[in-house]
Amino acid sequence: MICNYCEWRCDLGNGKPGICQMYMEKDNRIVEKYPNYYTTYHATHIESLPFFHAYPGSRTLQIGSRGCNFDCHYCSNAYVAKSLPGEVYTFNMTPQRIVDVAKQTGCHNIVFSVNEPTVSFPSFLEIAEEARISEFPIGCMTNGYMTQESTDILSSVCEFINISLKGFSQEFYRKYTGIPDFKPILRNIEKLALTNHIEITTPIIQDINDDKIIEIAKFIASIDRNIPWHVFRLLPEYKMEDKDYPSIQEINKKLEDARGILPYIYFSNFIGSVWVSTHCPSCGQKIIERFNLGGCGGKMVKYSLLEDKKCPYCGAQIEIHGEYTQWNSRDESYGIRNPGC
Ligand code: SF4
Repeated sequence: MICNYCEWRCDLGNGKPGICQMYMEKDNRIVEKYPNYYTTYHATHIESLPFFHAYPGSRTLQIGSRGCNFDCHYCSNAYVAKSLPGEVYTFNMTPQRIVDVAKQTGCHNIVFSVNEPTVSFPSFLEIAEEARISEFPIGCMTNGYMTQESTDILSSVCEFINISLKGFSQEFYRKYTGIPDFKPILRNIEKLALTNHIEITTPIIQDINDDKIIEIAKFIASIDRNIPWHVFRLLPEYKMEDKDYPSIQEINKKLEDARGILPYIYFSNFIGSVWVSTHCPSCGQKIIERFNLGGCGGKMVKYSLLEDKKCPYCGAQIEIHGEYTQWNSRDESYGIRNPGC
């Protein structure tokens, strides 16, 4: 039997494991091997995932399972994404329990991140249904390699989606992620941009994919100039531990031209980045202020938009999905993350 969750379309007949090893054939159906098992449930701010233009300031319950359909040589999350069952600690939690934890910890929304949601799709859909009943917005972070069928389903359950566009050539994707063809990812980005709030993240590895910065910016702009683009300074791990860390100055220089193409480019994963705040594309004033202490995204410290999401300085309309939520002053974080997350 063929698994149709992602574009690998693995044949799982006769006990074959499939690329992600998360599904099996049973009674003429494709079923999850580990339904409702999670490595992570963790309350944090949405900007840390990152989402900068969706429900700014809100508290998010970040969840994730294990496994992946990619084998990125530089993966900073391989401890979870590439672990086999038994190698990483997991929690069995019903969808109702996940939503209850989100309520108890004062979260505004739930986001599947940490690893690829496609490899735990039925479990994720069950959470999405429970969340819908309790009126929790749902989001996810994905590598975008799902089939059109899965993309349609994801689009119908998620309000906001961060898609990782890891490079911009067949050669890069084949060599560094293992997938044979990256066109389905471009197709899915184009489709999801029509139906959902999307943000895009690109981990930049110096001398490996930084030559594609302008091409990626142009591709995003050709869909919608208002899509936020998170450029993540990747510190390679896993099979590429020997690679140098990208130079902040070098990458920033390359981003200068891209900033003329896209108004919302963010550059993070180093302490003190000045590229994590939002500036009005019309008058240039800082309208959402954030800081970065290393790691993904940033932390919001000041939100200056007017109630109708207009710039307070020039009145330009700023593309933000959902309402601003004043960060509540509970503990900064709560829950369990595996050390690799
Ligand atoms: S979700 Fe996993 S088993 Fe299914 S096609 Fe993708 S890699 Fe193969």
